[in-house]
Amino acid sequence: MSKSTKFIFVTGGVTSSLGKGIISASLAKLLQARGYSVTIQKLDPYINIDPGTLNPYEHGECYVTDDGAETDLDLGHYERFLNVPTSQANNITTGRIYKNVIEKERRGDYLGKTVQVIPHITNEIKERIQELSEQHPYDIVITEIGGTVGDIESLPYIEAVRQMMWELEDDCLVIHLTLIPFLAAAGELKTKPTQHSVKALLELGVQPDILCCRTEHPLDLELRKKIARFTNVSVNAVIEAKDASTIYEVPLFMQAEELDSVVLDKLGLSKRNTPNLDQWKEFLDKLKNPKFEINIALVGKYVELKDSYKSISEAIIHAGVANNVKVKVHWIQSENVNAKNVQELLHSMQGILVAPGFGSRGIAGKIEAIRYARESGIPFLGICLGMQCAVIEFARNVLGYGDAHTTEIDPDSKHPVISMMEEQKKQSNFGGTMRLGAYDCQLKPGSNIYQAYQSDQIKERHRHRYEFNNEYLEHFQKAGMIGAGKNTESGLIEAVEIPEHPWFVGVQYHPEYKSTVLNPHPLFVAFIEAALKQKSSHG
Ligand code: GLN
Repeated sequence: MSKSTKFIFVTGGVTSSLGKGIISASLAKLLQARGYSVTIQKLDPYINIDPGTLNPYEHGECYVTDDGAETDLDLGHYERFLNVPTSQANNITTGRIYKNVIEKERRGDYLGKTVQVIPHITNEIKERIQELSEQHPYDIVITEIGGTVGDIESLPYIEAVRQMMWELEDDCLVIHLTLIPFLAAAGELKTKPTQHSVKALLELGVQPDILCCRTEHPLDLELRKKIARFTNVSVNAVIEAKDASTIYEVPLFMQAEELDSVVLDKLGLSKRNTPNLDQWKEFLDKLKNPKFEINIALVGKYVELKDSYKSISEAIIHAGVANNVKVKVHWIQSENVNAKNVQELLHSMQGILVAPGFGSRGIAGKIEAIRYARESGIPFLGICLGMQCAVIEFARNVLGYGDAHTTEIDPDSKHPVISMMEEQKKQSNFGGTMRLGAYDCQLKPGSNIYQAYQSDQIKERHRHRYEFNNEYLEHFQKAGMIGAGKNTESGLIEAVEIPEHPWFVGVQYHPEYKSTVLNPHPLFVAFIEAALKQKSSHG
């Protein structure tokens, strides 16, 4: 641990979904804008080793880092706000903590001792928190504790926080995010749930330093004083966190509430620079004042839970801003798309994006949507399974292989145009065994994708088991679908394209993970630009 690193813990009270991730990312942004190096970590109290095996309906998208960690979607917010990559160390679950401790026990590291929650589990948690500042000399590490105070499963985390506050004294600080509900019948904001939730923290030996209060209405001074009085928190540390029209507004709300100043005062850090948020404000200004509007269909099977495609929808927002356009996303359940209704569903779209995924549900609809995009000249972006479906569609409808498929769904297909990667055949476990993380890709000069990146060498993140079957490459290229991106080491095709089409790109990797506010992803920017052109040429 770097000696001067400060630790900020963010806990949540009253209910889940208050937005701890966004508050953490917003505070980090403000501290970064003052010149501090900051990272954010998420501790998840569930027993899965990572969210890689979770259905997106359970927990939203699985976010993948450069080093190939399958992580909580909050890490996506951290990267999008801070513009700094995260890693496996930024997301730890109870499963991982226990796995490490049990492996140490088997190795004999605790020989002779009874292994217990305190101190062994709590020590492991503390080590994982401090590990980040050992890897890199951060000024500040913000650790977001998943779940809600009072949950049985988060107890060891709160205990670890209590111990660190005792051991590191002034180098630690706790922010508690809570809810101040508005009771319409009484016409009043109510502080009682917050009082109870702080009491629950106090019972565990943790006094919060700052309260961030989610509210739909402004908190007046009297109410702030009341909250302060009941919770031993200074009035200026009772922060109003009102609902925002976009998550990207939250850093500015927090700045107006002086959250960063209060944090720096309490940690004894200087307020050295006035934060420079000019680029951020410019982004927000463009976001709120678009010049054009376009319609994009997002075709996927988890559309009922929008968090399943979090990074994609945020990347679309970033790319919209880069093009001065408001992108209206139409969420289309792929299971509902068929040859009869595809025209009606998609004819008014200026772009069609087919999402990543696993398994057979909704595949037929994805293929139908792609056929429509290909035949009608609507700009198309296929991501991972979306790209694989584009290859299947082309094989079936252009090459005439009616039964072409991916071996993921039809292992006996006579035309397995997408097949399992060789190295994957050796895997017997499910968790953490896909081709994960960042790999190099060489792009074909002159292609649309090359045009987008303005480079022939890129590095993008992956999460898949199946891949374009190179035995068919020549046949595809002759018929008009080219391999536009390739990993030269393995020979894997990472991108396909139809040069005859206005803009038809499929990528095996996930560009969405790398799009940030300050660095909108070039492929999304190019896709939206192509969609905008489509609009002007078709009225
Ligand atoms: N199921 C496909 C594979 O494993 C695609 C994965 C994805 O879309 N992330 O290759």
